[in-house]
Amino acid sequence: MNRTTVQDAVTKCPPGEELTLAGWVRTVRASKGGFSFLALNDGSCLANIQIVADGKLSNYDAIAKLPTGSSVVVRGQLVASQGKGQRVEVQAGQIDIVGLADAEKFPIQQKHHSMEFLRTVAHLRGRTNTFGAVWRIRSAVSWAIHEFFQKNGFVYTHTPIITASDCEGAGELFRVSTLDLLNLPRDEKGGLDFDKDFFARATYLTVSGQLEAETLACALGKVYTFGPTFRAENSNTPRHLAEFWMVEPEVAFNDLRDNADLAEAFLKHIFRHVLEHCRADMEFFNERIDNTVIATLEGIVASDFERLTYTQAMEILTKADKTWEFPPAWGRDLQTEHERFLTEQTFKKPVIVTDYPSTIKPFYMRLSDDGKTVAAMDVLVPKIGEIIGGSQREERLDVLERRMRQSNLDPANYWWYVDLRRYGSVPHAGFGLGLERTVQFVTGMANIRDVIPFPRTPRLAEF
Ligand code: ATP
Ligand code: MN
Repeated sequence: MNRTTVQDAVTKCPPGEELTLAGWVRTVRASKGGFSFLALNDGSCLANIQIVADGKLSNYDAIAKLPTGSSVVVRGQLVASQGKGQRVEVQAGQIDIVGLADAEKFPIQQKHHSMEFLRTVAHLRGRTNTFGAVWRIRSAVSWAIHEFFQKNGFVYTHTPIITASDCEGAGELFRVSTLDLLNLPRDEKGGLDFDKDFFARATYLTVSGQLEAETLACALGKVYTFGPTFRAENSNTPRHLAEFWMVEPEVAFNDLRDNADLAEAFLKHIFRHVLEHCRADMEFFNERIDNTVIATLEGIVASDFERLTYTQAMEILTKADKTWEFPPAWGRDLQTEHERFLTEQTFKKPVIVTDYPSTIKPFYMRLSDDGKTVAAMDVLVPKIGEIIGGSQREERLDVLERRMRQSNLDPANYWWYVDLRRYGSVPHAGFGLGLERTVQFVTGMANIRDVIPFPRTPRLAEF
């Protein structure tokens, strides 16, 4: 259908223009003079456009009592508005009702709804101001991600969703199988006979595309992946999903410092893009959700991230005058409370922590000369904690094989990954950014379930 978006109508179309608009009615207000005002939203922007429905319209009686949520096509003329807070409105020549909403049952009434309630009607929550804005920001962030890499000479690659390897080694994997769960085939030893399964081996949904991305980086130089990842971690936090989208750049000949530089430039690009291109939605979040988001993003793009080692971070944390749920100590992983303390209290900006103990990081991170730490880096931001996790990868064959055995992994099962270290091995580095944590950070939305249209979490796979 050839129509003008509300976004174009309210921002750029000149008064006088004849246009067709289509969308959903938010409210109808009858006026004394025998006409009605409709607030029409089509999802293209936060703003509604005001439609003036004249009493002379043939279906005026039906229009005047249109229930919230009904869909209409409006043909009319854009005119300068007398009303407050709007440049233009539409003088309707014709309003066709496309679909009536059941007035009694439509769950998204024009009143305050809790986020918890809106999750139960996830198929309709995009019709609210908040969720319309979140989905538009999610789109803009995704676009900015591609733009950054495409402008910087990266090749967009696709890594498998179904995989036989556990990249993180954390065992938080969803199985992929076509075996009959009620009648499982057994091998001689009584174990599961995976030879009978679709792939003739145990397979899983990927937790990360990194291992495959490394092979592509060692052919194409600079690559990135951007796709769904799955983690069966039973963590009911406001920052974890069982299905989330991850962006993973991988770059040949980069070391840890290059990796940190890339992460910082990348995040700043995303934030700058959102500030420049999503002004109305960002002002909405700043007003209604978190009154610090705009200033925070502006501050970040204008300053340098703090960089320090894990050991330095531990010194700060162990000296801090604070009672912790998990007392910090060298050798223990940083918990969200520690990450937030560093970004919110100590430095008041994003922080890149590097050089973690090898014992708390996966086998593929490059072992440093001290023999105790690896070339790991996490980027931490206020409120969220970790937003990026990355490292320089182990490029030395003997060290990699040793580290794999120490992690109880058989190098033979990862033969193709190990092979990279045999044929023109090079230093290389990369990281993973969680799309949802980025959208959370940008919008100030408190719960990660509210920045992906259909969240998957333990015991929840509705819609
Ligand atoms: P965390 O310690 O917060 O669980 P992680 O160390 O498991 O994170 P990585 O394996 O380094 O995270 O993954 C890279 C990025 O992916 C993280 O920095 C984060 O932005 C995102 N991420 C990781 N796990 C999840 C999840 N369950 N839900 C949403 N995003 C996630
Ligand atoms: Mn995790």
